[in-house]
Amino acid sequence: MGKTALIFGISGQDGSYLSQLLLTKGYRVVGSSRDAQISRFSNLIRLKIRDQVEVESASLNDFRSVLQVLKKVRPDEVYNLAGQSSVGLSFEQPVESFESISIGTLNLLEAIRFLEAPIKIYNAGSSECFGNTDGHPADELTPFRPRSPYAVAKAAAFWQMANYREAYGLFACSGLLFNHESPLRPQRFVTRKIVSAACRIAAGMNEKLELGNISVERDWGWAPEYVEAMWLMLQQDTPDDYVIATGETNRLEDFVDGVFTPLGLNWREHVETNQNLFRPTDILTVRANPGKAALKLGWEARYKMRDVARMMVEEEKATFEPLNL
Ligand code: NDP
Repeated sequence: MGKTALIFGISGQDGSYLSQLLLTKGYRVVGSSRDAQISRFSNLIRLKIRDQVEVESASLNDFRSVLQVLKKVRPDEVYNLAGQSSVGLSFEQPVESFESISIGTLNLLEAIRFLEAPIKIYNAGSSECFGNTDGHPADELTPFRPRSPYAVAKAAAFWQMANYREAYGLFACSGLLFNHESPLRPQRFVTRKIVSAACRIAAGMNEKLELGNISVERDWGWAPEYVEAMWLMLQQDTPDDYVIATGETNRLEDFVDGVFTPLGLNWREHVETNQNLFRPTDILTVRANPGKAALKLGWEARYKMRDVARMMVEEEKATFEPLNL
């Protein structure tokens, strides 16, 4: 008998790639959505795996629904990838962000503890917890200085995971994942917005791409390989937390260049900065040290920022260009 995995947030970018990975490993994959009856699961359809996964309705905010789905599915491994995932939106919806991320994770931990079942749990932590590290590469011991409602909620969820691991012996792991992108990123995320606009401009559309602060620096990786790290964490002998990143920092401006240049475009002719798109507080620069993941999990990012930009452009041109025009 293969293992059963329950993925909260299966409709999202990471949930879909993780499903794909676990299916290749022989797992029974069950996923939850807040409303599985109306969710289109377009990412699962796009990856051609919709008919290979089971779906259930469950809202992390609602303890009863979490308990019910755990009892029904009886998973060996739970992956919590659900919750409000946009840093920008969290400034507009701070309560929703806190409840879905922090209370949601707590509900999940309590339900697993209540069931007394040997369920391993992975929680989607975030590099946003670190805030500005003054140029120091963040590792698993770097203190948190969150700079958004999203990051505050992720920090709370991280410590809930650590507390349940220490207090109740749960096999609970958090991944402190830096930005990871793919063609499945929704349009509201800046990388996908840049790729879509650049492809439209290359196809002849006369438009300007409006961006906020393009001098911010991030560590961008390739989502399909980041989900491998999630799985690896739950295959170890002991539960632990890991920074997952490429270890390479680039400015947003460099990502823009990585998208426009392969399309034969000079981005400076097409991009405008809009002060209204600046965040109230932002992280200016990030540095990551993913050394522990390399040492303990044997995981290292194969793709760096320019690979990510190129692959997103290739996919966008092949798949979405006719739809966008
Ligand atoms: P997505 O936004 O693609 O997917 C998250 C899923 O959570 C959605 O499909 C949705 O499922 C559910 N969801 C969305 N909003 C809410 C809400 N307000 N309350 C409850 N559930 C909600 O995220 P990703 O796949 O990109 O990320 C997965 C996890 O990893 C998230 O927790 C994210 O914060 C975290 N993360 C992501 C990083 C990245 O670069 N991608 C970096 C670091 C952390 P449905 O509508 O079906 O219920």
